[in-house]
Amino acid sequence: MARKKIVAGNWKMNMTPSQAVKLVETLKPLVASDDVDVVYCVPAIDIVPVVEACKGTNVEVGAENMYFEEKGAYTGEISAEMLVDAGVKYVIIGHSERRDYFKEDDALLNKKVKKAIEAGLTPILCCGESLEQREMGVTLDWINLQIKSDLDGVAASDVANMIIAYEPIWAIGTGKTATSDQAEEVCGAIRRTIAAMYDEATAEAVRIQYGGSVNAGNAAELFGKPDIDGGLVGGASLKEDFGKIVNYK
Ligand code: PEP
Repeated sequence: MARKKIVAGNWKMNMTPSQAVKLVETLKPLVASDDVDVVYCVPAIDIVPVVEACKGTNVEVGAENMYFEEKGAYTGEISAEMLVDAGVKYVIIGHSERRDYFKEDDALLNKKVKKAIEAGLTPILCCGESLEQREMGVTLDWINLQIKSDLDGVAASDVANMIIAYEPIWAIGTGKTATSDQAEEVCGAIRRTIAAMYDEATAEAVRIQYGGSVNAGNAAELFGKPDIDGGLVGGASLKEDFGKIVNYK
């Protein structure tokens, strides 16, 4: 069965709550689609108003991060249960900015993936290589290691329903997009890793996004590749262009 494309915006640390609601209203007619799942991953403080503003639309709301513990003395953190109760459906886990600036490692990300699934959230698990790693020729080994570590102990049926986002670090926010062949090579390799870890059916079911300077001009070529099931979009998700990315065909 063909996988449904999924396009998710990653707003990062942008948009105050009132700006967020305005953006949702502006994008509402532009992102309407029956063919593509649309998600806005928004800052924690925007979740409640954005969930409200998206009611009755085709857009689901995601968080940009969460903590793996149930509750308690973790000042500043947000639990999976809180997200679910607020109406969140997706959560980005392991974005390269969190891995880099906040030193999140694969052992921690594995706990987050498991907790998100247990709570009923769909993880958008990010992986990706640095420019140095690409130039050293270790991209596929590195991605393989990230996927294997982050999914350790996760059941096949849960992997089949989650999202993996391949985001080369050198392409994020740089305007330097991976070519569609480069992106397809890695997304295909991720699918083969999932087949080896689980089985063909799980590999065929899991949706794999590309992220890294996706825009209205390159989305169609990237999303046209057989192993690329949509995109995780940073900068362009804050503009009207996001509608063109969703309706890329
Ligand atoms: C991202 O932050 O996940 C991302 C892909 O950003 P951009 O689209 O701006 O490169």
